[in-house]
Amino acid sequence: MNEEMMLRENNQNINLDLGSRLDVKTSTTWGAPIMWEGMFNPDMCDQIHKKEGSSVALTVFAVGGYLDVYLETFLSSSEHHFMLGLPVTYYVFTDMPDKVPAIKLAPQRTMKVIQVQRHSRWQDISMTRMKTIAEVIDEQIRHHSTHVFCFDVDQFFTGRFGSEALGDSVALLHAHFYRLPVNRFTYDRNPKSKAYMETGDFYYHAAIFGGSWKSVKALAEACYLGILEDKKNNVEAMWHDESHLNKYLWLHKPSKVLSPEYCWDTSIPDSRDIRVTRLQWAPKHYDKLRSS
Ligand code: UDP
Ligand code: MN
Repeated sequence: MNEEMMLRENNQNINLDLGSRLDVKTSTTWGAPIMWEGMFNPDMCDQIHKKEGSSVALTVFAVGGYLDVYLETFLSSSEHHFMLGLPVTYYVFTDMPDKVPAIKLAPQRTMKVIQVQRHSRWQDISMTRMKTIAEVIDEQIRHHSTHVFCFDVDQFFTGRFGSEALGDSVALLHAHFYRLPVNRFTYDRNPKSKAYMETGDFYYHAAIFGGSWKSVKALAEACYLGILEDKKNNVEAMWHDESHLNKYLWLHKPSKVLSPEYCWDTSIPDSRDIRVTRLQWAPKHYDKLRSS
């Protein structure tokens, strides 16, 4: 863990009001805050991060049919809600750079489009993201941004997703699992996979993870190594990159956890805990978008 960032993060945690939400869990057993609406003062978070010079790289992949269906909505909604007031660099990875929609970006926000290969299996498209993320952090992001957030494209912002979400290592509670007991989590159960785990803390959703560039690079590299090892051994983890992410975060606890406000599926009937929907799942079109 990056010591300086950890100290700063601890200082910022002092400003969190863990007792403002008695209806939900606001802290992990290892003392990381679980971020819910009401616990933080948005303006104070922004001021601290502006003063510290925080800057954020956002990575998103839109390969094959996902570009047409999701990318424009994702990016234009991000311009209204993601890290407003801080410098943001989008890294859009696609097999069709020419088709990336032209979005008008606010000042201090830029976009880089990087061409990637289109793997034939959707599982490989999803898993290879880890390798690409580690590489782009090493080659580019670490020179320009203090933090990185990695997103699935099949979602869109509907509320503030701001500097309160920044931390050294940040993971998201999966909307469908956060109220369930650990024995219901869909961890990888195959002892032959590097992602195998018997138990854990939470079920994290791979649709969003982030942190300092150093932490995200370490996470992405470790997950990709696990994926490669599995390929060598002819196994594939149950939920692909998400299984490896869960394994990594069990062994390396995140310093901040995001509540499902940060990635909510509005088809879940029980939304009693969700006071603000910051990001929503877009409709899935697996039949059309997944070829194999
Ligand atoms: N993805 C893509 N093209 C594909 C498959 C996946 O661009 O053909 C990217 C895209 O960013 C997507 C992410 O990989 O959001 C993860 O896949 P998906 O969202 O389908 O997984 P799910 O969220 O349904 O588990
Ligand atoms: Mn997704």
